[in-house]
Amino acid sequence: MKKQEAKAKKILLVEDEKHLAKGLKFNLEREGYEVSLAEDGVTALERLNEIDFDLLILDLMLPKMGGLEVARKIRDTHARFPILILTAKSTESDRELGLETGADDYLTKPFHLPELLLRVKGILRRWEWYKVPLHDQDVYRFGDMWINFVTGKARGASAGELLLTNKEAQIMKLLVSRKGEAVTRDELLEKIWGYEPGTETRTVDNFIARLRKYFEKKPQKPRHIVTVREKGYQFDP
Ligand code: CA
Repeated sequence: MKKQEAKAKKILLVEDEKHLAKGLKFNLEREGYEVSLAEDGVTALERLNEIDFDLLILDLMLPKMGGLEVARKIRDTHARFPILILTAKSTESDRELGLETGADDYLTKPFHLPELLLRVKGILRRWEWYKVPLHDQDVYRFGDMWINFVTGKARGASAGELLLTNKEAQIMKLLVSRKGEAVTRDELLEKIWGYEPGTETRTVDNFIARLRKYFEKKPQKPRHIVTVREKGYQFDP
């Protein structure tokens, strides 16, 4: 095992293909992570309740309970828990689906090991970035709304109190930290999802649409999360 200065990050790997699971566990451990293995969805959920993990690597095709259902159940109780989805499916709609369920990243099988290790590192790094408080304030207020970036709880324009997913909270935090300035779609994709600039995806727009439903009185005429033509999105308190 490599030496690590900080406490080893704990990863729960949920994968029923024994050979692949064993190989991944070995290689992640060699990178200094602590890895626990679950071979089905039900066991994964049980394990998550027992131990504090830093990241979940989740296969979609699983016995007992499928990966998407596992992800949804986790979102009900751990809105902001980092998830990397592994799957044999590769169509864009599956990719969108994975990200919409709140997964932090998505990798299609067969993948190269270095790619997986990069994604894992990326998610954990973005997570560290997110945990840094915003101007030493965990709760950001604008109008009669607020967002608690630690718990993910928020008060919206008309929906009352709501619980933001990890991605939703990260996007708001990035926009708020740069208020009055346009943040490009590429930057959002890179900072929040770890994608290459220029990635073609509707993901950012879908998330913005959802955030407007939460934080705009008239989502069709946004005043806080505004579109800046040919630039991106800008937060205006
Ligand atoms: Ca599988």
